[in-house]
Amino acid sequence: MANLKQRILEDGKVFPNNVLKVDSFLNHQIDPSVISDIADKIIAHYQGREITKIVTVEASGIAPSIIIAEKLGVPMVFAKKQQPSTLKDQAVYGSKVHSYTKDTDSFVIISKQYLSPDDKVLIIDDFLANGEAAMGLIDIVNQAQAEVVGVGICIEKSFQDGRQRILDAGVDLYSEVRIASLANSKVEFAEGH
Ligand code: 5GP
Repeated sequence: MANLKQRILEDGKVFPNNVLKVDSFLNHQIDPSVISDIADKIIAHYQGREITKIVTVEASGIAPSIIIAEKLGVPMVFAKKQQPSTLKDQAVYGSKVHSYTKDTDSFVIISKQYLSPDDKVLIIDDFLANGEAAMGLIDIVNQAQAEVVGVGICIEKSFQDGRQRILDAGVDLYSEVRIASLANSKVEFAEGH
């Protein structure tokens, strides 16, 4: 079953603090058919935008990103949460990101080698909550003076602040599924993307 809403209803589990666990098909064990279907929808939304690169943050953004990148025939770059000793400070773009699920801060980095002012970048992530990861990646793409084409999300929790922050930044946001509420452990969807 490739439909994301259906899979969320069948296999998603609501945890405290408004966390939706979908690790049986999206971000631990992965069902490629679900991700492939999401990828097609995201690609259709940004059709004609001449995307040159997909950017995400490790780890759970990587699966949808690589499938979208493969379908578009462009490279995918993921921001690293730990700076390898082989990458010196002046060789990277970086931004501070607060993790919603882990309640920790990390400084995520991308090597300057892999973003240039010519790039038209589509940012991808599995979830949108308060928009920390997406805003950090927008910051990094801006540091590279590349163009942010948009932010594509698999599951948006529309009752949190991320959507508004991204729209306030003037960025085109597409979320395949929007969740209006997780109250009482029940998933309620919002209309639209
Ligand atoms: P944000 O940065 O928008 O505040 O949160 C998005 C990031 O936190 C995503 O990269 C995702 O890994 C994680 N996240 C936020 N909310 C959830 C959730 O309800 N379930 C899961 N599995 N991850 C989440």
